[in-house]
Amino acid sequence: MIDKLQKLIDESNYIVFFGGAGVSTESGIKDFRGKDGLYKEERKFDLPPEYMLSNRCLVDEPEVFFDYYKTKMDARFAKPNVTHKYLTKLEKSGKLKAIVTQNIDGLHQKAGSKNVLEVHGTTYKCHCMWCNKEYSGDVIFESNGIPKCECGGIIRPNVTLYGEMLPEDFMKAIDEIRKADLLIVAGTSLTVQPASDLIEYFNGKNLVIINLDSTPYDRYASLVINKPLGEVFSKLK
Ligand code: ZN
Repeated sequence: MIDKLQKLIDESNYIVFFGGAGVSTESGIKDFRGKDGLYKEERKFDLPPEYMLSNRCLVDEPEVFFDYYKTKMDARFAKPNVTHKYLTKLEKSGKLKAIVTQNIDGLHQKAGSKNVLEVHGTTYKCHCMWCNKEYSGDVIFESNGIPKCECGGIIRPNVTLYGEMLPEDFMKAIDEIRKADLLIVAGTSLTVQPASDLIEYFNGKNLVIINLDSTPYDRYASLVINKPLGEVFSKLK
């Protein structure tokens, strides 16, 4: 199966990679919904992540929001894994035109990839909700309590929270997926919107899905691989 993936990569000229939480799990980042995901964590935070990471929580209970965010979303310790590194190499070769990611950990950029479209934003940057001044993501993680700008406004992460509009990168991702001749979808169950919406824009030749479990789009794929991503991407040239 990995030979077939290699062949599809070799034959394609406009590859787009679309990755979900599974891309980062081998770097030690927890998936929201995976087997060992945030849902199963200790009960310090009783409410579901969908609330903790929502615009409503940020506005109504900022102390709860930042407590959760600082405890769970700090990815600064994480290092790119074999999947991130392979994609950087493929981008340098000119075949891979864009990486569309649902992850907010910045690991593709850490690995050296350039055209990374973060459809849920990033934890690596933040900004003041009043004056829009930009800050590095560190400012939130290193703050005590609610992080404040010099103007007095709350500094929030450049992450798309539940209940918020999708960032500009989402529209760019649609464009890239429309142009692709090979779309590699990896580490996502494709059951959560807007991820499942994005794939609808693909009209190219080959769709490849690499995920531990089956997805609703498997029947449209030229190739489905149900293996850990590290095992697949470490074997590609
Ligand atoms: Zn400000």
